[in-house]
Amino acid sequence: MNVIILGQAGSGKGTQAEILAKKYNLDHFDTGKLLRQIAKMGGVLGQEIHEIINIKKELVPSRILQEILHLRLTDLQREQGIVFDGVPRNLEQAEYFSVALQEFGRKIDKVFFINVSEKESIARISSRRICKNCKRVLIMGKDLASETDRCPACGGEIMHRIDDTVSGIKKRLHVFSEETMPVINFYKEQGLLIEIDGGQDIEKVAEEIKTHNKVKDL
Ligand SMILES: [Zn+2]
Repeated sequence: MNVIILGQAGSGKGTQAEILAKKYNLDHFDTGKLLRQIAKMGGVLGQEIHEIINIKKELVPSRILQEILHLRLTDLQREQGIVFDGVPRNLEQAEYFSVALQEFGRKIDKVFFINVSEKESIARISSRRICKNCKRVLIMGKDLASETDRCPACGGEIMHRIDDTVSGIKKRLHVFSEETMPVINFYKEQGLLIEIDGGQDIEKVAEEIKTHNKVKDL
């Protein structure tokens, strides 16, 4: 089973990907995590990624995502299912995904689009803080009481990422509607898309995804 989970910032797609990976024993293709791992390993690719994500703090180009996808597909047994978390994020990547998966004898079985409103996205993300030390995501009002609090897990300093401010979120939502919505339509045309109301709580969303996965071919 190869599944893609897409959704706007704050849709909870990462959490759902994790739940799905555990439940069906899937490999969780988490681009951010893979990039950080490869950056640490060094080498030509690792060094290049390190410069982009840690120094320039930019998004990696599609070419690098392609290399990572290729590496991951080479590493995994064909029977090992994968859940792709938040990728492909544009049409160019989606087309490459189709080619690469086919090359490895795989296909995408389902694409879940966890759809959240702009209002909900802003409400969820703007309360998000990150521990500078352990990188844990912390929620203001839930895990933290004030901006001067320290990480409850490790005591590290907390920060508010520029991406997680209201203007940062609006920018991300705009990029999503311009670049990722065409990907969603691309899968819709192929009959693979399942849209889920991401305004519901985590358990409800997980329950809906589970229901759709009971279909016999998975
Ligand atoms: Zn921490």
